[in-house]
Amino acid sequence: MFVHHCTSCDKSQLIFPSQMRGVAEDGSGLVFTCWCGAEQVWVVGDKAEQSA
Ligand SMILES: [Zn+2]
Repeated sequence: MFVHHCTSCDKSQLIFPSQMRGVAEDGSGLVFTCWCGAEQVWVVGDKAEQSA
């Protein structure tokens, strides 16, 4: 699990693996559902460095 700052509820929430929905369409990160119900993307960051 990890902490993510949600852009919808504007809170830093603890996200559990059970909230994961899959990989983002562009492969930039993981899609999950926040406690507030908003769909968020957790950007992993490694890809940006590799593509540069
Ligand atoms: Zn939220």
